Amino acid sequence: MILDDCMKAQIGIIGGTGLYSLVEVEEEVNPVTKYGKPSSPISIGKIGGKDVAFLSRHGKNHTIPPHKVPYRANIQALADLGVERIISSNAVGSLRIDYKPGDFVFIDQFVNMTHGRDDTFFDESKVVHTGMADPYCSNLRSIGISNAKNAHLPHHEKGTVVVVNGPRFSTRSESKFFAKQGFEIINMTQYPEAALAREKGICYLGIGIVTDYDVGLEGDENVKPVTFEEVSKVFSASIDKVKSLINTMIPQINDERNCSCKNR
Ligand SMILES: [Zn+2]
Repeated sequence: MILDDCMKAQIGIIGGTGLYSLVEVEEEVNPVTKYGKPSSPISIGKIGGKDVAFLSRHGKNHTIPPHKVPYRANIQALADLGVERIISSNAVGSLRIDYKPGDFVFIDQFVNMTHGRDDTFFDESKVVHTGMADPYCSNLRSIGISNAKNAHLPHHEKGTVVVVNGPRFSTRSESKFFAKQGFEIINMTQYPEAALAREKGICYLGIGIVTDYDVGLEGDENVKPVTFEEVSKVFSASIDKVKSLINTMIPQINDERNCSCKNR
């Protein structure tokens, strides 16, 4: 599909597990990029008067596992629609007692432990080394944090996510190892998504939603065993909260960017 004639959007949302719709859809597009099709059709509509493009990371029916997500096609498709800001929601496991199920984390660093993923746009004739010291947009993070404070959401202003390949979960030893390194949360999709956005000069915000404690924390006397029902309940409540957080954030995003994300 050629995107010349469709609506454009400056803000993109990549919805993770559980977050399948947010915008009142005005147009749905099915782009094909040079990297193939994105995970799902992209819905374009308005939030707070701004045009927003919404993409489901795992597909409309949650059929794409983390290691099969077409990360490059997703970022390219959003860039082709004019997106300069991406807000993403991500289910994360906790590696620390004080990052509790239901808490939000405004991720500020990632550590990549994935392998075999197409993780760059610069693998052709031109050699480009993109700065990745601070992969997350400081401006979007501060808008997110101030809105989380105003809404009294349990949240953490910082957090390093270690990204594992999946789809399997960690062993106890892997989980303990990650916790010992000082990483706070664990996930399977933040890499290469955040890195590819930075390569494109797009501002990127990763909102982590803690769903449970990782396996390495089991057996800790402060961690009570949780049932699947409890996890599901906490997670569904968090999804509604993240939706309203994103809804309140979007009208506060200025059209002009004053951060350094575009200077990759
Ligand atoms: Zn930025």
